[in-house]
Amino acid sequence: MQLNDKIYIAGHRGMVGSAIKRRLELLGYKNIVTRSSGELDLRSQAEVGNFFALEQPDYVFLAAAKVGGIHANNTYRAEFLYENLMIEANIIHASWKQGVKKLMFLGSSCIYPKMAPQPLQESSLLTGPLEPTNEPYAVAKIAGIKLCEAYRDQYGCNFISVMPTNLYGIGDNYHPENSHVLPALIRRFHEAKEAGKPSVTVWGTGIPRREFMFADDLADACVYLMLHYDEKELVNIGTGEDLSIRELAETVKEVVCYEGKLVFDPSKPDGTPRKLMDVSKLHSLGWNHSVELKDGLVQAYADFLRKRHLVIS
Ligand code: GDP
Repeated sequence: MQLNDKIYIAGHRGMVGSAIKRRLELLGYKNIVTRSSGELDLRSQAEVGNFFALEQPDYVFLAAAKVGGIHANNTYRAEFLYENLMIEANIIHASWKQGVKKLMFLGSSCIYPKMAPQPLQESSLLTGPLEPTNEPYAVAKIAGIKLCEAYRDQYGCNFISVMPTNLYGIGDNYHPENSHVLPALIRRFHEAKEAGKPSVTVWGTGIPRREFMFADDLADACVYLMLHYDEKELVNIGTGEDLSIRELAETVKEVVCYEGKLVFDPSKPDGTPRKLMDVSKLHSLGWNHSVELKDGLVQAYADFLRKRHLVIS
């Protein structure tokens, strides 16, 4: 990938796509193509086909997806399956048709079976049943991986797939019900602090364990692998470190400086008991994360406050 190559980032307004764009710009890439969802509906085969024929990108980062937390995944099951299938099928097919030199597909750690051995190895794909709360999203992402593999097998396309762990960072979604746990807790603790509430409710038992990566770290890994990795096999992207939801809640509480108590609500789903990535392959390829959870949380909270200030003023 040369500095003048045309690079299309699908999903550049999302947390991940915008972090990839920042990273590429920092490195001096000058020919980045983007379209907002208003300009290009990625669910439309015709629109995507026309866009690729017009722009003819050399490289594609497929970071566009319908995403959300455990409640959104479990509630909007049809949209999570349909929209993600359409987006990835349209982009991968058009990339083959227009002769894209290389495409990176971003999946998710939820593609691995619910009871797969921990840490999750790339080889665990399709070895058992999925976690039911996010099965539609996971099935769509597995289809994306298989599309990349099939176009590689049949047509020799250099399409690679990477599986990020749970992410957070600048430009996250702070919706009270539909977001992921980390941004949801930042918002809930902040609002409880402002309102002087004595306690904050955390969904589930607090026992499940999750791994969290700062989106700018992920973007750095994606650009690194776009430059250095050309194989068919998936690559996990994570920190290799996890903590319980209770520990996460305690850490967010501290960063937000909330003084009240934590209350757990076991009527809400816990989801998968543990989701820790095996990142030995990523490390062997020469990449390691650099942002630790506490530092990333401070940056994420600052971003939340900036956004909130913009909305209020
Ligand atoms: P998951 O990794 O796909 O399960 O996605 P989430 O980030 O939505 O949830 C991770 C874990 O955090 C689950 O065990 C949730 O029950 C728990 N959790 C605790 N409080 C919240 C919350 O306010 N929102 C969300 N989304 N999850 C929460």
